[in-house]
Amino acid sequence: MNCSRCHNKSVIKLTNSEVSLCEKHFNIYFEKKVRKTIRVYKMVAKQDAIGVAISGGKDSISLLYILNKIFKPSKIKLIAVAIDEGIKGYRDPNFSYVKKFCKKLDIPLKTYSFKNKIGKTLDEIIKKDKKTIPCTYCGVFRRRLLIDAALELNVNKLATGHNLDDEAQSILMNQFRKNTRASSILGPITGVKDDKKFVRRIKPFYFLTEKEVATFAFINNLLDRYIECPNAILGYRRVVQEMLNDFENKFPGTKHNIVSSFLSTLPLLKENFKESSINSCRKCGAATSKNICQTCNFIEKINSL
Ligand code: SF4
Ligand code: ZN
Repeated sequence: MNCSRCHNKSVIKLTNSEVSLCEKHFNIYFEKKVRKTIRVYKMVAKQDAIGVAISGGKDSISLLYILNKIFKPSKIKLIAVAIDEGIKGYRDPNFSYVKKFCKKLDIPLKTYSFKNKIGKTLDEIIKKDKKTIPCTYCGVFRRRLLIDAALELNVNKLATGHNLDDEAQSILMNQFRKNTRASSILGPITGVKDDKKFVRRIKPFYFLTEKEVATFAFINNLLDRYIECPNAILGYRRVVQEMLNDFENKFPGTKHNIVSSFLSTLPLLKENFKESSINSCRKCGAATSKNICQTCNFIEKINSL
């Protein structure tokens, strides 16, 4: 198939449209879409320092690359933040690539580990607790380490590589689990209100599909090779992802529809949870909607096993 703009060989056909694009025109489309998302949702202000969560996968590597391209000429500071969960055979090879990549872009990289902050690696945790899905601990601790890192590094925004597929999965997962509070903090910018213990998370890839981000990483040679987490197949997200991909194949546009209908109800959700207070965890002082934060609950659970 040929590019709809210039008749060169196309590299991708866009979802929900008859448009196919070649490398050059796909790169233009991709960057425009990122810029538009940042602009429309006022994700970045002139004096911002942005922490960019980086794992070494296609999403975070592409995010760091494009944010660097967009903001290099400005005063906006970027810091890459990597979280080492302590998963044998997974993190080390990905991190050695992250180090090389950050060095090439001349972006400082800070690494925080579960071992240092939580006291145990994820591997040690799941050895103790064989009943809980690893991602349950991992997601809570990783989010916490990222927020702590952002506060420590004095960045006022935290950018993540979440794409449209990730968001559609999260929306469905929260619906299936009847967790509307968790949905109220989704969206292109997370957080229902400002709080000094809280760092706003921004998702510049919010309207780009997984296929688009993968294509961008591939045609720009951004990935060395990426090793997938061995625990991914055990997670609830994986089941929802497979179901959603199957739906998308049968009914193209499903993921876009989930996200756009969610966005039309998001203001109501945010309004609904606006008044719910952000407390300080009685144990660690972190922001939480309860008395004790989930990180402290989990640490207590692990220590009691
Ligand atoms: Fe953590 Fe699960 Fe992701 Fe692995 S797949 S990094 S355990 S959340
Ligand atoms: Zn706590």
